[in-house]
Amino acid sequence: MPEKIYVKDGKLIISDNPIIPFIEGDGTGPDIWRATRKVVDAAVEKAYGGRRSIEWKEILAGEKAFHLTGKWLPEETVDAIKEHIIAIKGPLTTPIGGGFRSINVTLRQELDLYACVRPVKWIPGVPSPVVHPEHVDVVIFRENTEDIYAGIEWEAESEDAKKARQFLNIEMSCNVPEDAGIGVKYISKAASERLMRKALKYAIENGRKSVTIVHKGNIMKYTEGSFKNWCYALAKSEFAGKIVTEEELPSCGSNVPEGKIIVKDRISDNMFQQLLLRPSEYDVIVTPNLNGDYLSDAAAAQVGGLGMAPGGNIGDYIALFEATHGTAPKYAGLDKVNPGSLILSAVMMLEYMGWKEAASLITEGLAKAISQKTVTYDLARQMEGAREVTTSEFARAIIESI
Ligand code: NAD
Repeated sequence: MPEKIYVKDGKLIISDNPIIPFIEGDGTGPDIWRATRKVVDAAVEKAYGGRRSIEWKEILAGEKAFHLTGKWLPEETVDAIKEHIIAIKGPLTTPIGGGFRSINVTLRQELDLYACVRPVKWIPGVPSPVVHPEHVDVVIFRENTEDIYAGIEWEAESEDAKKARQFLNIEMSCNVPEDAGIGVKYISKAASERLMRKALKYAIENGRKSVTIVHKGNIMKYTEGSFKNWCYALAKSEFAGKIVTEEELPSCGSNVPEGKIIVKDRISDNMFQQLLLRPSEYDVIVTPNLNGDYLSDAAAAQVGGLGMAPGGNIGDYIALFEATHGTAPKYAGLDKVNPGSLILSAVMMLEYMGWKEAASLITEGLAKAISQKTVTYDLARQMEGAREVTTSEFARAIIESI
C-alpha cells in the first residue's frame, strides 16, 4: 500500500512504498524526468529486490499547470509537497509577467526551504577545465530565503525609491544619489543559525572533516560579518565537543583531535581562488544567498558544468530536489539533453530518504556509462572517441550498468 511520508518525534517516517510527488518541468523537463524516473525505479528494484518501490504522483507547475489550470503554481501543488514532505522537480520556465518573480523562488519561500544544498564532486571521465577535478568534493549549503535576494528593491526614480532615499538620506545621514535603484540586504540571526545547524548536522552524519563559513564580513560587517559570528557561536554552543575552530588549532589544519570537525571561515573572494587552488582543503561550505549562488555554479564548472550538477532545497523536513540548470527550451522534446543533473538530484533524494543502496547503484551506473564514453551531446563534444546517445539511451546505459 502506498503511504505518505510523515514526521514523528523529529524523524522522517518512510514506508517501503512512499508516495513522492514530482513536477516534470518545462522545455526539456519531461525528457529528463522520464529518464530519471526509469533510472530511479530500476535502481530501487535492484537494490531491494522488489521489497521497496516509489509511488510517483504527478503535481503541476509551470507551463503545463498554466495550460491546464490557468495558474503557474496552483495552491494544490504547494499543499501536496507540504503533505508528502519529499518531492522532485524538473526545470521550470520563469513566467514573464506571471505576477511573481519565479516559480522556483516562490516554492522555496512558500515551503520555507531555507537551505539550497549543492554537492559538487567530479565523476571520472567528465571533461573538466581544471587539472585535478578529482580534488573537488564539497557540499555547499546556501541560505535560500534572505540576503539581497529577498526581493526588496525599488527601481531608480520610482516613488518608492524616492521614499527610501529620503529616509536614508534624511533620517540615516546617507548619501544615496537621486538616480539610484535601491535594494535591501538583510541577514538574520535565526536564518544564519538554522543553516549552520543543518550544515553541521550533515557534516557529522556524513563523516565530513570541515565546515567553512564563506562571507564578505570584512566589508558588510552587520550582515555577512554577523552571519560569520552567529555561525561560529552556534557551532560552539550547540556542537561543543564535536567541533574545533581553526583558530583553536596550534597550527593551521594540523593536529585535529580525532573525530572533530574543523570550523573555519574564508572571505568569499578568497574562497573562489581557494576552491581552484586548494580544493582538497574544503568540504562542507555554508554561506549566504548571493555568495552561494555564485560559488555553487563556479564549483560545478570545475567538475564539468551545470549539466551534471544536482541540487536540493531543504527546510526543517520538507525537501524539494531539482536539476540546477534551466529548461533548455531549444532542445525540448528532442530527447537530446543530459539528464545527469536530475538523476543526481534523485540520488540526493534517495540519500535523504536513507535509501543509500539505491543511491549508490545509480552513482556507480552513471559513472560506468561515462567511463564507457556513452554520453549525451554536451559531454560527447568534449570527449575524444565518445559515442553520442540520446537522453533515453543514456538512461538505458545507466540502467544496464546497475
Ligand atoms: P538553461 O540552463 O536552460 O540553458 C543554458 C545552456 O545550458 C543552454 O545552452 C542549454 O542548451 C544548456 N543546457 C541546459 N541544461 C542542459 C542539459 N541538461 N544538458 C545539456 N545542455 C543543457 O538556461 P536559460 O536558457 O538561461 O533558461 C531557460 C529557462 O529556464 C528560463 O525560463 C529560465 O528562467 C529557466 N530556469 C529555470 C531553472 C529552474 O527551474 N531551476 C533554473 C535556471 C533557469
